[in-house]
Amino acid sequence: MMQNVEKIALVGAGLVGSLMAIYLAKRGYKVDLYERRRDMRKGSADAGRSINLALSNRGLRPLKEVGLNEAAKKMVIPMQGRMMHDHKGSLTFQPYGRLGQAINSISRGGLNELLMNEAEKLGVKIHFDHLCTGIDFEKNLLSFDVNGKEIEQSADIIIGSDGAFSVVRGFMQRTDRFNFSQYYIEHGYKELSIPPAPNNGFKIDKNALHIWPRGNYMLIALPNLDGSFTVTLFFPFNGQPSFDTLQTRDDVEQFFKEVFPDAYELMPTLADDFQTNPTSSLVTVKSYPWVKNKTLIIGDASHAIVPFYGQGMNSGFEDCRILNALLDQHQDNWDVVLQKFNETRKPDVDAISDLALQNFIEMRDLVADEDFLLRKKIEAR
Ligand code: FAD
Repeated sequence: MMQNVEKIALVGAGLVGSLMAIYLAKRGYKVDLYERRRDMRKGSADAGRSINLALSNRGLRPLKEVGLNEAAKKMVIPMQGRMMHDHKGSLTFQPYGRLGQAINSISRGGLNELLMNEAEKLGVKIHFDHLCTGIDFEKNLLSFDVNGKEIEQSADIIIGSDGAFSVVRGFMQRTDRFNFSQYYIEHGYKELSIPPAPNNGFKIDKNALHIWPRGNYMLIALPNLDGSFTVTLFFPFNGQPSFDTLQTRDDVEQFFKEVFPDAYELMPTLADDFQTNPTSSLVTVKSYPWVKNKTLIIGDASHAIVPFYGQGMNSGFEDCRILNALLDQHQDNWDVVLQKFNETRKPDVDAISDLALQNFIEMRDLVADEDFLLRKKIEAR
């Protein structure tokens, strides 16, 4: 039987760790949140991966439970469907639902700040510049590198919310009977930008997720509150065409002019952005079990997925909601809760992981396929 749980340590103050800290602080636990980066609210630290992301009902539900629904809704731009851009720049709008259902574009940094502010208001102590370097699952002890100095911290429960390349998971991998797989797709991504129109207007429809499907690759754009769009090119690393073949400014300009002509017109800083911004890879991580003694991993740390269903953060938020519901159900008996979470959550997470991979094919290819559209129309009737 587990002793009384009073003190909980979370590793990683990203989106999922910060939300989990709020849930736990609301339950009355003493919560310490350890983050390797500097405090992003003081500037300078980067906001993480994509600049904005799609927040769906799956993610809004837990935000509502912790009382942040209204604050988050002020930060979003609803996208009621996909706006497809063909080779000639002709547009086709495909609504997500008949009742105006939408997914919501939100700033990653803005949402993370909202969550950290709320966590601190509830008494969570966020320790920045704390790089987790080790974990002792027997003694429930974490090691950190704090500006070159090694320190140790203990807790009754430890939660690893330290992302796709989780150190906490890394130590679980060294224990017996831990399953792990990591799979990189052949495509990477690069973030680009469409600047705002004068007076923070939008150059294209702001209430849509814009897609330029081109078979084996695609460009997408999500709106930001300042009138700009964050544009992402999902593109193969190798082959023809690929990141490999777009080496010079001329290569980039020429390619976009030919393949994405209407987007090209809207992107005055294209060549600079292309050369300055990193080309990043896309990975699916699967792991199991997620519990080792009194340590649990959640969010990308246990199940990172590709972004094509816009559900990575949303399903990480769902982890938090489900863990909290189990704590309600089992009167904070962590022995039972950890076991139940571990046993019941995996099938849903595997399903969304597979759907995310499949949706890449639909987005980049099938959405532009006339037969497919006709089939969808018939199914929708
Ligand atoms: P992370 O956001 O990775 O946060 C982990 C935190 O842990 C970070 O703050 C990191 O600094 C910290 N950390 C890491 N290692 C250590 C350590 N050793 N010690 C201390 N701290 C540490 N999801 C959606 O739901 N919708 C979308 O539209 C969407 N779009 C995406 C687009 C792209 C291009 C990508 C790559 C992902 C997208 N995702 C989207 C997925 C989403 O970004 C992730 O699922 C989400 O960020 C996971 O949150 P997390 O808190 O688990 O991990």
